[in-house]
Amino acid sequence: MIQEKGTISIHTENIFPIIKKFLYSDNEIFLRELVSNAVDAVQKLKRLSSLGEVKGEIGTPDVQVSVDKEAKTITISDSGIGMTAEEIKKYINQVAFSGATEFVEKFKDAKDANEIIGKFGLGFYSAFMVADKVVIDTLSYQEGASPARWECDGSTSFEISEGTRTERGTTITLYVNEESAEFLEEARIETILKKYCQFLPVPIQFGMKTEHVEDGLDEEGNPKYKEVEVPNKINNTRPIWTKAPSELKDQDYLDFYKELYPFSEDPLFWIHLNVDYPFNLTGVLYFPKVKNELELQRNKIKLFSRQVFITDEVKDIVPEFLMLLHGVIDSPDIPLNVSRSFLQADGNVKKINSYITKKVAEKLGEMFKTDRKSYEEKWKDIGLFVKYGMISEDKFYDKAKDFALLENVAKQYFTLPEYAAKVSPLQTDKSSDVVYLYSDNPAIQNSYIQNAAKQDYDVLQLDGPLDTHFISLLENKLEKTKLKRVDADVMNKLIEKDHEYESVLSEDQQNLVKALFEKTINNSTMNVEVTAMNPEEMPVTITMDEFMRRMKDMSKMGGGMMNFYGSLPDNYKVSVNSNNKLIQKIAATEDEQEKEQLSRQAFDLALLSQGMLKGEALTAFVQRSVGMM
Ligand code: ADP
Repeated sequence: MIQEKGTISIHTENIFPIIKKFLYSDNEIFLRELVSNAVDAVQKLKRLSSLGEVKGEIGTPDVQVSVDKEAKTITISDSGIGMTAEEIKKYINQVAFSGATEFVEKFKDAKDANEIIGKFGLGFYSAFMVADKVVIDTLSYQEGASPARWECDGSTSFEISEGTRTERGTTITLYVNEESAEFLEEARIETILKKYCQFLPVPIQFGMKTEHVEDGLDEEGNPKYKEVEVPNKINNTRPIWTKAPSELKDQDYLDFYKELYPFSEDPLFWIHLNVDYPFNLTGVLYFPKVKNELELQRNKIKLFSRQVFITDEVKDIVPEFLMLLHGVIDSPDIPLNVSRSFLQADGNVKKINSYITKKVAEKLGEMFKTDRKSYEEKWKDIGLFVKYGMISEDKFYDKAKDFALLENVAKQYFTLPEYAAKVSPLQTDKSSDVVYLYSDNPAIQNSYIQNAAKQDYDVLQLDGPLDTHFISLLENKLEKTKLKRVDADVMNKLIEKDHEYESVLSEDQQNLVKALFEKTINNSTMNVEVTAMNPEEMPVTITMDEFMRRMKDMSKMGGGMMNFYGSLPDNYKVSVNSNNKLIQKIAATEDEQEKEQLSRQAFDLALLSQGMLKGEALTAFVQRSVGMM
């Protein structure tokens, strides 16, 4: 018997076509909305029960989701508080949004369903994104309540009649429309449930699954098993971020990581977030091992609001340099359903952002202090985040400068102040700049590193993906400090001292040597220079100017003016050491042919130690060497 027919009171034409058309891309969220409503109904019941306002035991209320492919229906059923017919009229019919006109104006610009649904409290109505007809069957927990049924076919008219439910709670039945047939596939529904409902606080059951349980012993005394059908529970109702850190062991954090990202390698360490003032936020952030880039990008931080999954697009909420972390953040204070631009301006979001930055810095600082050795072992992985953070956020630089590490080619680690103290006695040049030498490829730059070692200079290893930027950052931040790659010049030019080597060769001899090498090399991008150096240094050294090389490196990474440098040819400096014995021998040799051969050989040796001798030139060098021996 129909008790009441009526029109849903929204003072505009018909919101359903809008819901259907404009929200189509995101339509799977109908399930999140309906299951969340069901969970809320259960939570409310529990609260009322604990206040003594519900008669009798409530048992373990749950939510059941099922799909009937033949009937083309999806049902979401809960044993929560239910609704009376009056409540249906109040909560469902009078669609709870501030103004229908505002809605119609706004929907045009809305980019996704989340935005509209959240803003106008249309959670329940998202059902019409996938259904032609929706039926509510409900029985309120209130004593003496009678069951009620609401039915609506997607127009603005509805019917309320007497319902059939005999047990407290609500069943929502969706008659799935043709275009949404995909949602009649159990696998699809299970995937959506896993995505949005994995950590809801009330058990969510979806269909049945087979379990093997022990069933007595066989004749030989071994346990027997039998198959039983049990409800398939989708969610973990008490994920670790809802627990106090004191309740948890390391293994709990590792297990939870696996639950979030099955098949991923264990994380390095984690940070448990927990604040309730001035905003509410809980969560666990994991530092992954960086070696697997694919995994890094696939596993994202998940954002929840009261255990309902919202998104894994956490931009704006998490500082950019921490986006590569994994884990979960749960906050009811993040305005999830508003537009991007609003989010960026939101005060809470800003506070959350700096809270997370602060927490991460504290954790790293504490790890560094309590167990430096294990911190150093993890530095390869941690360093990437720390450097990224220092480059992108001044505030983080200030915190990180005490626990950021520099690694030298001998695999020793130093903090920034430690390193400055270590190298400044020897590596301060005549204009009182401290010069940090570095290598981005110790294998190829080995001869230069050896040269530095001869002078007791230290060489840093800066070969990471962010080190080009990190080098510029250090030069900006550290006073009177320059960074130079070991092969950017000959040692006594890299770190210029007051004291200069005197040349054994006369000026005339030097000019002859210069002309000889220019003729031998015969290449306009190689600028020959004869210099008096430490006699121990190589006869010939090929270098590329630090500034020039950096500009070229930058231009490879792309960007405007920089292209100009990228288009220039590689320009090298060929430094001939007038104090080296071989050069003196060349200068003293009378035979023109021998002179030429020796200079060629000296130059090729320099190319060889730079990894620049290849192909025909390499073959010629080998043959010439054999001949000379
Ligand atoms: P919101 O959840 O944002 O308030 P909805 O449109 O999703 O908006 O739901 C409107 C109201 O309908 C809810 O606030 C609740 O009072 C009621 N309601 C919806 N689903 C249920 C349910 N499964 N059990 C009890 N009440 C419900």
